[in-house]
Amino acid sequence: MIPKSGGGFTTIGGINMGENDWLKLYFKIQNDPSKSKGLHCPICKNQSIKFQYVGDERNMTGILSIWCGSCLKGIQVGKVNIPKNIAFLSTNLPEEEIRKRIPNFQLIAHFN
Ligand SMILES: [Zn+2]
Repeated sequence: MIPKSGGGFTTIGGINMGENDWLKLYFKIQNDPSKSKGLHCPICKNQSIKFQYVGDERNMTGILSIWCGSCLKGIQVGKVNIPKNIAFLSTNLPEEEIRKRIPNFQLIAHFN
């Protein structure tokens, strides 16, 4: 769930990058990650949306990265609850291990 106070959705890439569509992707993934295959990229429209949770196994919260494998644009959402039964990477992993999974995509917006 998105906290009601504090933080906010910060746009980095400009106003025509489909921020609302990215947020919808976030809600879909967060609701049920198992049904998140074949999601369309708001920008290039390819079905290339990928996501990865990176978090802390002690309290099961972390950061969700959502990106498009085709145009390499995406968003990050912080302080999310990691859904059960989803593979996630530990924040304790070295950066290069996380980079193997999450490419260096262009951040359109982030939510903290
Ligand atoms: Zn794309």
